[in-house]
Amino acid sequence: MSLIVQKYGGSSVADAEKVKRVARRVGKSHDQGNQVVVVVSAMGDTTDDLIALAHKITPDPDEREMDVLLSTGEIVSTTLMAMALRSMGYSAVSLTGGQAGIWTDETHRKARIVSVEAQRITSELETGKIVIVAGFQGVTRNMDVTTLGRGGSDTTAVALAIGLKADKCEIYTDVEGVYTADPRIVPVARRLKDIGYEEMLELATWGAKVMHPRAVELGQVYSMPILVASSFNENPGTLIHKGASMEVRNKVRGIAHDTDVAKITLVGIPDRPGIAASLFEPLSKAAISVDTIVQNAGLNNITDLTFTVSKSDLTKAMKIIEPVAKSIGASKCVSDSNLGKVSVVGTGMQNAPGYAARMFKALYEAGINIQLITTSEIRITCIVAQEDVKNAVIALHQAFELERA
Ligand code: ADP
Ligand code: ASP
Ligand code: MG
Repeated sequence: MSLIVQKYGGSSVADAEKVKRVARRVGKSHDQGNQVVVVVSAMGDTTDDLIALAHKITPDPDEREMDVLLSTGEIVSTTLMAMALRSMGYSAVSLTGGQAGIWTDETHRKARIVSVEAQRITSELETGKIVIVAGFQGVTRNMDVTTLGRGGSDTTAVALAIGLKADKCEIYTDVEGVYTADPRIVPVARRLKDIGYEEMLELATWGAKVMHPRAVELGQVYSMPILVASSFNENPGTLIHKGASMEVRNKVRGIAHDTDVAKITLVGIPDRPGIAASLFEPLSKAAISVDTIVQNAGLNNITDLTFTVSKSDLTKAMKIIEPVAKSIGASKCVSDSNLGKVSVVGTGMQNAPGYAARMFKALYEAGINIQLITTSEIRITCIVAQEDVKNAVIALHQAFELERA
């Protein structure tokens, strides 16, 4: 008997019919003699709708209240899934993240899982039940509800698979696996049969939302293979694992994009030690992640500094940065929230020249202006205007010939 954790995303459980369809799939896995734990996301756009609803009440909702509100979306899905399975003759039970033993830190809206205590799940499985767990949520030691960041149900699934020592972790979604780029933007994008954790983590971190980056990170740390496949058919999907195939090592593996980018520029700041720390320490304390930082070469001990944050963090970041900017004597602090980023990723780029030049040339030929550039050993990212992101992805997919195996 195998223990399988299956996760179904929002579009796979978007309405009652879809819930019943997923329940039939889950039931089939159970019929095959497996113990099945199912993680579900909120139905369709529920999370977006709940966020919009809160913003109708107040522009700046309290984060603790927000987490309780958002957690309800996933809870609705678990109850309906359990009802669907019961109506088909299965024995099933729904659990909230807290009931399932998902403990997190106190960072509301972006909490990290600190431990999984899965005894309740195990005892339910032992009585022959299918266990349905609400994704994207946990509780703190004070029993406050937290959420794990947008897309966080993937992380719930991988964490449970690790905590339960499951034989398989399967992420079912609305595409047939991980592609060389978002198949909704690049129709000729190719499904990858498999991919290593390192490349998948880089793609996910830089916007390929088919997997939540923290889910990939957990999978990597605990060597848990993760299958990403369609919830709508039985096609093979993509396996994320340690020993990904070697034949593509000297190529770009995929293109990630993200339209959730805002930039903050501080103009005319003193070029002396301690300035960067005074800016970034308060941001990190507020759990705002900054992913691209560019500082110009100083002239007359004065310099400019630009960094990017996600759009949803911009207001909070500006509130923190504006007084600091004033206190260090910056002449101006400006922001732009109409940006996006596009990244090429591949371990094959390590120590191989030419990739950056090829990327910049492709963007130039597509008439796209690059605003900022950042790199890692296996990634090159360009920040561009949001309206250029789609064309940039298409141009880069073509330039690196990713439609070819
Ligand atoms: P779910 O609701 O199942 O969690 P998501 O919407 O979070 O699904 O993620 C699936 C979506 O990710 C796809 O519909 C696709 O548009 C997008 N996506 C972005 N990059 C990729 C990629 N490289 N491969 C596959 N899908 C991608
Ligand atoms: N429902 C949450 C979201 O929309 C979590 C998830 O779908 O994974 O972000
Ligand atoms: Mg998702």
